[in-house]
Amino acid sequence: MSPAPERVVVVGAGTMGHGIAQVAAQAGSSVTLVDVRLELAVAALATIRANLDGGVTRGKVTAAERDGALARLRTSADLAEAATGAALVVEAVPERLALKVEVLRAAEAAAPPDALLASNTSSLSIGALQDALERPERVVGMHFFNPVHINKLVEVVAGPRSSAAAVERALEHARAFGKEPIRVRDSPGFASSRLGVLLGLEAIRMLEEGVASAADIDRALELGYRHPMGPLRLTDLVGLDVRLDIARHLHETLGGERFRPPALLERKVAEGSLGRKSGRGFYDWDQE
Ligand code: NAD
Repeated sequence: MSPAPERVVVVGAGTMGHGIAQVAAQAGSSVTLVDVRLELAVAALATIRANLDGGVTRGKVTAAERDGALARLRTSADLAEAATGAALVVEAVPERLALKVEVLRAAEAAAPPDALLASNTSSLSIGALQDALERPERVVGMHFFNPVHINKLVEVVAGPRSSAAAVERALEHARAFGKEPIRVRDSPGFASSRLGVLLGLEAIRMLEEGVASAADIDRALELGYRHPMGPLRLTDLVGLDVRLDIARHLHETLGGERFRPPALLERKVAEGSLGRKSGRGFYDWDQE
């Protein structure tokens, strides 16, 4: 397996960015975590430290590995300076095309010409990002999953103009970070959301039709097909509003009826039942 890239820049120190920085630092990369709000990058370091301390307590990480990873992590609010000398830049800023384009353009201008530029987008087209850049061949998707330090999956998304070498490098980097990457062509929902959301929507339609209770629909897949969690409970954890947005996007881009949001989902979101974060979704979380 190839070693981890020497210098990595992660842009955006939120839910995903801090996790990506952590796994890269644990793999041996020198990592700069960049955020427009430096205090968020500093807070992210504290979260990483807590994750690693937890790993030491559970015997998953040695104290020396924790200390080594922490020593390889830096924070910055200056992307241009941080990207100088980077082998890999991963952006994990909010899911807005214009913002991602702005960040990738700045990374392109500052990083060495052979640096790989990756987007952690969960739904935007890699092709649309490439269209805004001067050297689109070195741009790919690297879609990590939350929580990044635990979840093994990375979808490596080949945009229409990504070079084969860039895709191979992204796969290698993901493996070096301890992940199990899959290769996906740039298409709406990639592989994971397209399948996961479809299952969730069908489960909601079954609930609407009175086929079974939410708990029994979930148990069908948990017991019958060994899913770790049923589709309705999972929708509650992700957030019904988040799932509704993805369903609308897939319905618009892929067409047909299969991704049309069920009325029950629309209604629950309209009344503020968003899942665990609001206390209620398909389950009552205040009771759990
Ligand atoms: P988040 O809101 O938790 O974090 C985004 C961070 O980016 C914030 O700290 C913000 O200050 C920073 N930021 C904003 N503009 C910036 C700029 N110009 N330069 C530097 N930093 C900037 O978001 P998140 O949930 O981590 O999502 C980030 C990306 O990952 C999105 O594209 C999202 O779709 C994708 N994603 C999220 C999840 C998830 O479960 N949250 C899973 C997979 C992929």
